[in-house]
Formats: sequence, structure tokens, C-alpha cells
Amino acid sequence: MAAETMRIAVGPESSKVTLEGDALRVGADADEATFEPFASSSVTITSENGKLIAGGAPVPANALRFRSGPDGAGVIQVNGVRVKGDVVVLFGKTQLAAVNVLALEDYLVGVLGSEMPKSFPEEALKAQAVAARTYALNKKLEQYSQPFHLGSSVISQVYKGLDVEDPRTREAVESTRGMVLTWQLQPIEAYFHASCGGRTENGSDALGRDLPYLQAVDCPCGRLPTSHWTLDLKPADLKGMGGAKASALHVQGRSPTGRARRVEVGSRSVDAVTFRERIGYMRLKSLQFDIEKSGAGWKLQGHGFGHGAGMCQWGARVYAEKGWGFEKILQHYYPGTELQKLYE
Ligand SMILES: [Zn+2]
Repeated sequence: MAAETMRIAVGPESSKVTLEGDALRVGADADEATFEPFASSSVTITSENGKLIAGGAPVPANALRFRSGPDGAGVIQVNGVRVKGDVVVLFGKTQLAAVNVLALEDYLVGVLGSEMPKSFPEEALKAQAVAARTYALNKKLEQYSQPFHLGSSVISQVYKGLDVEDPRTREAVESTRGMVLTWQLQPIEAYFHASCGGRTENGSDALGRDLPYLQAVDCPCGRLPTSHWTLDLKPADLKGMGGAKASALHVQGRSPTGRARRVEVGSRSVDAVTFRERIGYMRLKSLQFDIEKSGAGWKLQGHGFGHGAGMCQWGARVYAEKGWGFEKILQHYYPGTELQKLYE
């Protein structure tokens, strides 16, 4: 297999896209397109009546693909984010979308620097590189005919372009090049999260994905002080969930690992995943919590950060410090999968 490329949406859709780069070239949105020199080193693209407008002039195409330098090896700044590879501007769902087309391994270096602290041990970084590569290839296969495979927000994988590149993350990506976790020869849905709090969650309870390799496993991260958190909630935080005057807040049912499945808010029963989304993913860090009444509101005490399915990053760090290699770490969090080198 040739080197894999990815198509990544850079930021949300917007009414205009600004590009900057040395020796900009422009062509059609195809890998084999001919690229002609572009008149200036920066351009703003807008749209009018369903047509693209580049630098004030209408464009006779539905998409424009830019690269920097004759061989496309230069850097392009798109809406303030510096990226490698090509940038395609096209019509998204409602407005213009900027899509970065780049080599999968370059994408992974950017993802890794955003997803895991670069100070983590080398074997944890390598495990993260394999998980992120596997996740990306799985999405690419699923989204093959779509204009892009992944967004660049926390909903898929966090990608912040070149500014988070680091020699340690590049080394972790290069030393695992082409390595992917498979189940029945297909790249798996390699979910991961910051901290599980002591036991990971099975896929069906965490994400509604009942998959053989997403099983609850023990994890040493629960002993770390960083995995514990508290959150104070006021009645106003529950507005819209249990009526304006929610007086009760209880966990109604729990998964086998102890995470909330449903939460009773006032007189209503709310799905716990929805409850976390409404409170905010950053405030209510996980579904592993207890609630006690505190004044007019409630105090939540919990542990873990994230949905809990698949690899736990803080657990991977503890295992790497204990001397585990990345293969063993991955086998622990994705039991029954195979590590395969899909391309050189
Ligand atoms: Zn953990």
C-alpha cells in the first residue's frame, strides 16, 4: 500500500477562508491535478450565489486545492492554523470548509502533540500513536466517499497543525510507522480517553458501541491523585433538564463498572451521557461520580476524565513507567486485537 493520506477539516465551516503560503500553487481537487502558480502569497476565498470567489474573482470550479512550493512541501497557514500538505476549499454543509490533505504520518504527529502530553514516557506515546493511526484509518474507510474524513475538534481527534510538532511525538509516530490494531483484519474503532479512574468502561455502556475488543479492564490510573475531582452544581445548572425548579438529583442506575447510566433530575430521568453533555464535558469530567446535597445545590465527587472506553492515557503512562512496551499496553486496553504493519 502506498503512503496513506488523510482529509481533515480545519476548524468549523465559515463564510470566508484565508490562506497564506510561499509560492502558492492552485489546482483541481485531485491527487493527480496539475498545479499552476497562484498570483499572490495570500488569498481570501468567499462565496456568492453558490460560486467560489477567490481574491474577488469568481472561480469556475466547486473546489480549489492549494499547495505551497513546487512539490507541495511548504507550509500553508489556513484561518490562522499552520499545516503541511494541500488545503482544499470547498462547500461544506452550510458554509465554506477548509480541508487539509496530508500524509497520515504527518497528521499523526500533529494529533499526538495535541492528545497526549509530550512529557509522557516513550512507550505510552507509541501506544497513543498506534491508537490514533488505527482510529484515523477506521474513520477513513467509513467516510471514504465524503469530502473529508475527520474534523479537528475533540469530537474526533484533536489536530492543531504544525504548531504542536515535537521531536518526541515525531519519533513515536515514525518508530510505529504503518502499525495498526486490527480485528478480523480490519482497523478497529480504537477509542481512547484521558483517565478511566481505575477501570475502563465497555464500549456499549460508554459509547453505544458493543465491540469485542472494547471491554472493561482494570487500570492503575485510579491511584493517581489527578484522577479525582469534585464539582459543585447549583439548581441553575440543571435548567431545562428537570424543569426550572429541580429539587432532586440522584444517580438512578449504574453500569457494571459503577458509572452512572441514568440520572434523576427533579421529576425526570435523564440519560447519563446526555446529562454529561448538558453540564459540559469539561465540567462533569466522567460518569463515575457520587452526589450529595450541599446547601441549595449538590456536590459531586468522582474520578476519571472522559468516556472511559479503550485506552486510558494516564494508565498507559503508569504501565510505561513500570517498563511495559507499547504492544503490551495496547493488548491490555484492546484485548484480542492484532498489531499489524499495514504499510511501509
Ligand atoms: Zn485508567
